[in-house]
Amino acid sequence: NTPEKLNFIEVAIQQDLAAGRFSGVQTRFPPEPNGYLHIGHAKSICLNFSLAQKYGGSCNLRFDDTNPSKEETEYVDSIQDDIRWLGFQWDNLHYASDYFQQLYDWAVQLIKDGKAYVCDLNSEDTRQYRGSVTEAGRNSPYRDRSVEENLDLFARMRDGEFADGAKTLRAKIDMASPNLNLRDPVMYRIMHTHHHRTGDQWCIYPMYDWAHGQSDSLEKISFSICTLEFENHRPLYDWFCKSLQIHHPRQIEFARLNMTYTVMSKRKLLQLVSDGHVNGWDDPRLPTIVGLRRRGYTPESIRAFCDDIGVAKFNSTIDVIKLENAIRTHLNQVAQRRMAVMDPIKLTLTNWPAGKVEMMQAVNNPEDPAAGTREVPFSGSLYIDREDFREEAPRKYFRLKKGGAVRLRYAYIIDCHDVVKDDDGNITEILCTYDADTHSGGGGSTRKCKGTIHWVSAEHAGDVEVRLYDRLFTVEKPDVASSEGSFLDYLNPDSLQTTTAKVEPSLLDLPVGSNVQFERTGYFYVDPDSQPGQPVFNRTVALRDSWGK
Ligand code: ATP
Ligand code: MG
Ligand code: MG
Repeated sequence: NTPEKLNFIEVAIQQDLAAGRFSGVQTRFPPEPNGYLHIGHAKSICLNFSLAQKYGGSCNLRFDDTNPSKEETEYVDSIQDDIRWLGFQWDNLHYASDYFQQLYDWAVQLIKDGKAYVCDLNSEDTRQYRGSVTEAGRNSPYRDRSVEENLDLFARMRDGEFADGAKTLRAKIDMASPNLNLRDPVMYRIMHTHHHRTGDQWCIYPMYDWAHGQSDSLEKISFSICTLEFENHRPLYDWFCKSLQIHHPRQIEFARLNMTYTVMSKRKLLQLVSDGHVNGWDDPRLPTIVGLRRRGYTPESIRAFCDDIGVAKFNSTIDVIKLENAIRTHLNQVAQRRMAVMDPIKLTLTNWPAGKVEMMQAVNNPEDPAAGTREVPFSGSLYIDREDFREEAPRKYFRLKKGGAVRLRYAYIIDCHDVVKDDDGNITEILCTYDADTHSGGGGSTRKCKGTIHWVSAEHAGDVEVRLYDRLFTVEKPDVASSEGSFLDYLNPDSLQTTTAKVEPSLLDLPVGSNVQFERTGYFYVDPDSQPGQPVFNRTVALRDSWGK
């Protein structure tokens, strides 16, 4: 029994539990409903839900819906679908907007305690007064308003007396603090904007820092896990809880997930979608959960990936190959094998009895005996992949060449004796004979042959649309590749190629959402665009990483 290796968050949790700071582990996943979730959110979901599971606690889903201008019900729904699809179920569902009245009351309390004031500086002047890392801030001329005046103005802000931006409510902390977040941060802004849940009930909205920690506190969260950008917000998080003397969660930061060859910010994803660079939020090239799902990723593979990359204290960029390997590993175990010819060329067996069809037994999944076998029709007229044939080839070429032999998977060894060409010299047909003694598993012949290739029977094969997806960007870090240009400059023009493949009959009636392996090619997913008898296959990932290691 090797002792379990704890990550730094688990170490902190165990210390706090041992010290009696908290009696249990309450976490939450707190998305802002302003876009679809991506793989970075999946990391946060797995972390929060798994910690609660591990320590017998609970995990809430809370929508941090404090900015009405960007939020929509469509996103609220998709976020819930995505979390369930990933395999998690929240204990309680909350909305920060449910706490608007409580937050307002607490703001009044801070005003009464002399810890908050109404400020008339506009946003530009507020910025000016705040100073910078190298320059101390200056007190707002409105900082010393009396409690009575502040209470009156704040109530009138709420009542809609003032225009957007005319006033703010600010915490009265320290304009000289080296931490800019403590220089009298804004708690409320005026926004006469309709909210997707509270309608027109409010025209002042809490800022993130004011709403977030107090929402955590109301839900009796013990560990408020967030990403590193919030590390220097922690003193403010703590200040609010202490000033209000309310339940005080512990904020713990970890490095956000970044991945190569993609972008992760919701703003950029939204731009890709709304400018039509991809076909919607569930485009299989996007790192969104719905995109990965449509690409053919399984929840198991995403959870395994999130687990495998661990939690870090420093930002880094994870190689997308790690994610691709996670889905290969899972689908290798569970996906049934089928034969599909991506770039078909005709192959005729010149000694095959005319009209004869033989049913071959094919293994569905060598990794899973319970998956059984199926019958695949074989005849004298076949298709193989153009890549698997050379008219002339070096000695070490173990696929089919003129004058050479190869095994057709689950069938016979064949010998190639000639090719047919069109007027331009392109090969249009390969002519072979089959060796009747060499039936797979038949034991009739000791003849061996180095190469095995896949095939389909021409008269039985179906034509299907196959969408070959590749990386959306041509560079590892499209975000930072260019100082002046945009990430859009690095879009991969070949990220989607569509082709028609010839497939064995059993591939024609798979339900939407099935994962299969096309033998020797890759893993594929039956796209929702499929029609009965006319499936559309998305390439999830090629069998091995074709980009080299
Ligand atoms: P984005 O910058 O993509 O818009 P966000 O942080 O604004 O993301 P939220 O809806 O606020 O998005 O995120 C909900 C939760 O998911 C937060 O706790 C946030 O820290 C976490 N999260 C978001 N992106 C990542 C990421 N790339 N890696 C890990 N956690 C993330
Ligand atoms: Mg956020
Ligand atoms: Mg955001």
